[in-house]
Amino acid sequence: MPGFEWMGAEEKAEINQVLDQGFIFRYNFDGVRNNVWKAREMEAMLCERMQTQYAHLVSSGTGALSVAYHAMGVGAGDEVIVPTFTFVASVEALVAAGAIPVFADVDDTLCLNPASVESKITPRTKAINVVQMCGSMADMDAILAIAKKHNLLVIEDACQAIGGSYKGKPLGSIGDVGCFSFDSVKTITCGEGGGIITNNEIIYRNAHMYSDHGHDHIGNDRGAEGHPIMGLNYRISDLNAAMGVAQLRKLDDMVAVQRKNKAKLKNALSQFSEISFRRLPDPEGDQASFLTFMLPTEARTVEINQKLKDSGVDGCFYWYANNWHYIKNWPQIQNMVGAAKLPIHLNDDLPDYTQLDTSASDAVMSRSISMLIKLNWTEADIEQRIEKLKQVFTGA
Ligand SMILES: *Cc1c(COP(=O)(O)O)cnc(C)c1O
Repeated sequence: MPGFEWMGAEEKAEINQVLDQGFIFRYNFDGVRNNVWKAREMEAMLCERMQTQYAHLVSSGTGALSVAYHAMGVGAGDEVIVPTFTFVASVEALVAAGAIPVFADVDDTLCLNPASVESKITPRTKAINVVQMCGSMADMDAILAIAKKHNLLVIEDACQAIGGSYKGKPLGSIGDVGCFSFDSVKTITCGEGGGIITNNEIIYRNAHMYSDHGHDHIGNDRGAEGHPIMGLNYRISDLNAAMGVAQLRKLDDMVAVQRKNKAKLKNALSQFSEISFRRLPDPEGDQASFLTFMLPTEARTVEINQKLKDSGVDGCFYWYANNWHYIKNWPQIQNMVGAAKLPIHLNDDLPDYTQLDTSASDAVMSRSISMLIKLNWTEADIEQRIEKLKQVFTGA
């Protein structure tokens, strides 16, 4: 998934334009910026690429989630359904918003299991946070149907799936609001950055105001702008956005290379009868940043994971044992520990997060390994990798 592999002259040219002619702040200062507006430029590009009416850049993917929740009206005491397998930011942003995370299981898509989602709905549920993990997607039709039936908002975290699609719709554009991350290891990078996309004008307006201290961004005199709401600062700088402009232009080429490289490895692994693959609800829309395969048992998966390490097959992730991505390994979340008292601590009927039944998620995650697909692999690199994989799986 790393866009940093393709960083070069194009990024430098965009950044230099800001340094030479523009201004680092994304708003105002019309007199000194010579009409260089990189955040605006990238937002327009995102709208076009993602087929949405609105896009707004912020300082990170985590910021995008925080801004999106607030802009959607998800806040104190609201329950939001999140997957057990995700990045911690999904939960952190929710808790920071004063909302209550309710964990639903993942299935063999590595994303939310629709039946589990439906079983977790209560009168306090406000939204479903669908996380499109590792380049692919959840069963979106089923999840959208549940959201519609129960009148819930859908926030689509496409931080790991930009460039993918589901039945022709870009991932991120399917829910009420979509979030992207442009941190240094994501498919495209701004260094640090994030974005939200939506077709809802109110969500967009709330998002741009909330991410900039409530400024309404009307007129061109920042000092005279109104502040209809309170906000915080989640602004991106025009330097980061400049980098993103160059990277976003490369997105479709990156995805094409990922798909080509992934197909070769998947083809090689499919010879081994013990391997099954992650289910892709729309295989054509997979953006192919990872190849995820499953083994028959947890014991065999642990063994293979070790053999992959020993054989120098790098970029393989056994998420089940990884402390960034799976609920089992998050004591700080299970115990809701902050450096200060959190809004969630004011609820006296909180679920006991240390006692969640995650057996259905465990059954998938304990058997899944994801291999990162690189952009700069040569043909020889891929062949060598395939040879090593053969040794790992045949024990030769
Ligand atoms: C990376 C990531 C985030 C957070 O993005 P940052 O830009 O690093 O804050 C959120 N959700 C998922 C699924 C991610 O992978």
